[in-house]
Amino acid sequence: MRETWVYLNGEFVPKAKAVVSVFDHGFLYGDGIFEGIRCYSGNIFCLKEHIVRLFESAKSIMLDIPLTPEEMEAVVVETVEKNGLPDSYIRLVVSRGEGDLGLDPRNCKQASVIVIVEELSIFPQQFYDEGLEIVTVATRRNVPDALNPKIKSLNYLNNVLVRIEATRAGVFEALMLNHEGYVCEGSGDNVFIVKNGKVFTPPTYVGALEGITRNIVIELCRELQIPCEEVPFTRHDVYVADEVFLTGTAAEMIPVVNVDGRLIGSGKPGPMTAKLTQAFRRLTVQRGTKVPGFFSTSA
Ligand code: PMP
Repeated sequence: MRETWVYLNGEFVPKAKAVVSVFDHGFLYGDGIFEGIRCYSGNIFCLKEHIVRLFESAKSIMLDIPLTPEEMEAVVVETVEKNGLPDSYIRLVVSRGEGDLGLDPRNCKQASVIVIVEELSIFPQQFYDEGLEIVTVATRRNVPDALNPKIKSLNYLNNVLVRIEATRAGVFEALMLNHEGYVCEGSGDNVFIVKNGKVFTPPTYVGALEGITRNIVIELCRELQIPCEEVPFTRHDVYVADEVFLTGTAAEMIPVVNVDGRLIGSGKPGPMTAKLTQAFRRLTVQRGTKVPGFFSTSA
């Protein structure tokens, strides 16, 4: 069987040996940050953007990453290459590292840096062809002045609770609202609505991660001269939208056809979602960082 190699603090170790201390503050307190990245046919999509977000998250929580952004990029490329997986999902984690049972991060001498590369488990094609049914849930998004959603931290308890609620409702994904009832995002993806030819997504200050896929979709709208605005909206706006779709590294772009039992538009994935998805898919193999091992020009 193929070995899975995990990058762990400067070394490649087999999956079974890739362990961190129970005193790691990532484990004890969720004190750390992460990125989920995707490699398409040997092209690590938007790697630089992910590295920038990782270092910005680190700066915000005063976490010293013991590598430069360039070194981190090289480590990700090397880990993908080492695992021989041109189509893969990459998880990059930096935790505060091993400390004691106190909260004080000064007792954590060295951050833990982990890169995991796994075979991609793609969502069922049916999701893309037929669209998803989703619900809104009781779990609220953290308020930005408590924990800014721009920090992609290891604190994902809200998101886990959303997944539990979604599963109990018999659906695959759900939307979180903020404390004022504005729509924020899904448990692991951003949300967009389309109304009268215009595209809308909640601003991050409402309570949403500044998703890399979200930013790409906003950029694609600009290129394709489709009006796109970041504005707060409510559940009502979602219910009466012509189209709804979710975006994320894992999800890419997934149409949503039913929200809380309300059929969206015709109940089928719409033309705007299809148009943007087509443009997005083209970019995934173009924009990013090529893993040299998959592009060798041997005779
Ligand atoms: N929101 C949340 C809460 C997420 O975990 C993710 C996945 N990282 C996203 C949105 C989508 O972000 P991205 O497009 O950068 O994957």
